[in-house]
Amino acid sequence: MGNYPSHQFFSGSIEVVCGPMFSGKTEELIRRVRRAQIARQKVQIFKPAIDDRYHDTNVVSHSSLEVEAVAVGSSIDILKKLYDTTRIVAIDEVQFFDENIIAVVQKLARRGIRVICAGLDQDYRGRAFGPMPELLCIADMVNKVSAICTVCGSPATKSFRKITTDENQVLVGETDVYEARCRTHFDYVAEGEEELLAFTVAIKSDEQGELNL
Ligand SMILES: [Zn+2]
Repeated sequence: MGNYPSHQFFSGSIEVVCGPMFSGKTEELIRRVRRAQIARQKVQIFKPAIDDRYHDTNVVSHSSLEVEAVAVGSSIDILKKLYDTTRIVAIDEVQFFDENIIAVVQKLARRGIRVICAGLDQDYRGRAFGPMPELLCIADMVNKVSAICTVCGSPATKSFRKITTDENQVLVGETDVYEARCRTHFDYVAEGEEELLAFTVAIKSDEQGELNL
């Protein structure tokens, strides 16, 4: 069939699984990888070198399902370590990657590779995490999964940090540091929200005739 390399015959795609901690993102990534492996599709799995919670080379989810993964220092390293025969690239903890991950993922998809990413959409402040907004934007398929609120049992979309003394966005930890919370029980007031709160108070005062501007 001409001079086209074989991967040109496959349609590439970008899939993102996002949500808070304890929502089963990695389990979902592993489920998709396993299915492809059963069909004998060549899969490569990457994760940022920053996430060394359990093991250097395995993607390990909280439920101890394991698949082999390569820890990389930057998103460009994914391209450097890619084999010609790879059909599927899975990337775990994708929120920790630098902004080049967008270009890398698009390049892979253009080569006919199915890219599956899993990561936190929000940090412990409820703000967009790293490259996630753009990644969600360019994705062909997005699954936003929820956990269970540890306070009320409702679906949880936020990662609540119990330790607030460390302002670092990247604090890799487990149940001792984080809890899944619903919107109601995630009481972190973001910077912009404080201003909004003051604005609401000002309007109320104005209505009561206390502000004469
Ligand atoms: Zn709740």
